[in-house]
Amino acid sequence: MTSIRVAAIALALLGIASGEIVKRQAATVSEPTEDEADAFTKELCRDKGAGEWFRLDLNDCRDVIQCTEAGLQALRCPHGLAFNLELQTCDWKDNVKNCNQKEKKRVVKPLLNTVEPLCQENLLACGDGTCIDRTLFCDGKFDCADESDENTCDIKSDPNSAPICNPDECRLPDCYCFNNANEVPDNMNPTNVPQMITITFDDAVNIENIDLYNIIFDSRFNPNQCSIKSTFFVSHKYTNYSAVQDLHRLGHEIAIHSISHSNNETFWTKASPDEWEREMAGGRVIVERFANITDSSVIGVRSPYLRVGGNNQFGMMEQNAFLYDSTMTAPLQNPPLWPYTLYYRMPHACHGNLQNCPTRSFAVWEMVMNEMDRREEPTIEEDLPGCAMVDSCFSNKPTADQFYKFLVNNFDRHYLTNRAPMGLYFHSAFLKNDPEILDAFLFWLDETLANNPDVYFVTMTQVIQWMQDPQPVSNLKNYEPWKEKCNVAGPPFCYGGTNCELNTDELPGETLRLATCMRCPNRYPWLLDPLGEGYF
Ligand SMILES: [Zn+2]
Repeated sequence: MTSIRVAAIALALLGIASGEIVKRQAATVSEPTEDEADAFTKELCRDKGAGEWFRLDLNDCRDVIQCTEAGLQALRCPHGLAFNLELQTCDWKDNVKNCNQKEKKRVVKPLLNTVEPLCQENLLACGDGTCIDRTLFCDGKFDCADESDENTCDIKSDPNSAPICNPDECRLPDCYCFNNANEVPDNMNPTNVPQMITITFDDAVNIENIDLYNIIFDSRFNPNQCSIKSTFFVSHKYTNYSAVQDLHRLGHEIAIHSISHSNNETFWTKASPDEWEREMAGGRVIVERFANITDSSVIGVRSPYLRVGGNNQFGMMEQNAFLYDSTMTAPLQNPPLWPYTLYYRMPHACHGNLQNCPTRSFAVWEMVMNEMDRREEPTIEEDLPGCAMVDSCFSNKPTADQFYKFLVNNFDRHYLTNRAPMGLYFHSAFLKNDPEILDAFLFWLDETLANNPDVYFVTMTQVIQWMQDPQPVSNLKNYEPWKEKCNVAGPPFCYGGTNCELNTDELPGETLRLATCMRCPNRYPWLLDPLGEGYF
């Protein structure tokens, strides 16, 4: 989209004039005088921002003007386009919904940066000068009459935003931040750091994928002789809780991926603290009850579609004692990033389209999802955008060889640099539906374990445990947190469990099955009634 800025059009368009044309026309009685034109321009430009384009009339949506030092300047969008006031650029006609408006909606800004403070300590000024409590700014609710308290809220301008990382004050075990991606916890030499790999699976656990999990995790061992572990971000609908109970028994980590998995992506961006609580804390109530998990180990959250819920999500997590989130993606970079705590400002851009990252300080770990490099030959190919979920790294089905190379390349990006934990984030279908891809993955797993005495496949919580108490590879054979549920023998708690057939008023007309080793609930557990008791 090109901008045509032709000052001459403005003059013709306006019927008013300045500069040379005015002088030439000054003699004509019907034309405005120089003073009148100036006054008109002044009035027009009084409330316009620098460089702001606006419409003089509503005749043609392609035409706009702006105020400049040299007077008014006009722009006409090319044919087929219209001027989009909100985006301040020429845009496809169908995208432009503001042809009936003369100017961009005015957003009143708060008066945060004045030479003399306008308010007493701990108060800040709304756009109209009213002083309100500083904490009310950017809290998701309008408190100023002009709503200006919610208008300047990105991480750099939120008056309550988390401070920039101060490594002197942010110390392990409770706090970890960095201003330089090359840093390693405890300033360890990377060659002494174990290469941790976190395999995760998202969505429902059920008979569609439980065989796959057995194939991957059965009889594979870390260098400390314990079975390799992974993390499951479980969404509620269609989940088989006797299968979840067995994954937990075997030492895998169960984390929460919401109850509804609502496919309205903006819902997750904008959800209120209560909605977040119902989805995630409610999801934990369901998992704990129906998979009988009683060891308080469900402490992780990943939001559906990797939509970050901003301060509302993280505030809910802090209040409900969720220790970590693994939803935020960091753009592809070398070296990749270590996980960090959110007491201080996040160390990377809020990555992704229209994402809502937290700006305030939270007692929550971010198990950041480092984007992967999808190129087959990274040294010679041009840059391509990264990808967070493994299945999103391939626009076409990869061959076994391509997938194997992808794993090796990305492993090296971690192992040969700062040894940040490497995440392999799957949806089960990617491996399940393609035996060749699964074979390539298992081959890479076996090869990696056989060749590297310093590579461990661990859960998200085990990564945090290591970061809180960093130990060199030589100490890891007897490192207690990684010995837990080392090799679990014996049969599952129950085989299959009861397949409860249930419904709920919250999902009218649907009958759903919930398999569990525990007693069947009265109703299908859902947002308002996570225990399925039948009253809410
Ligand atoms: Zn999902």
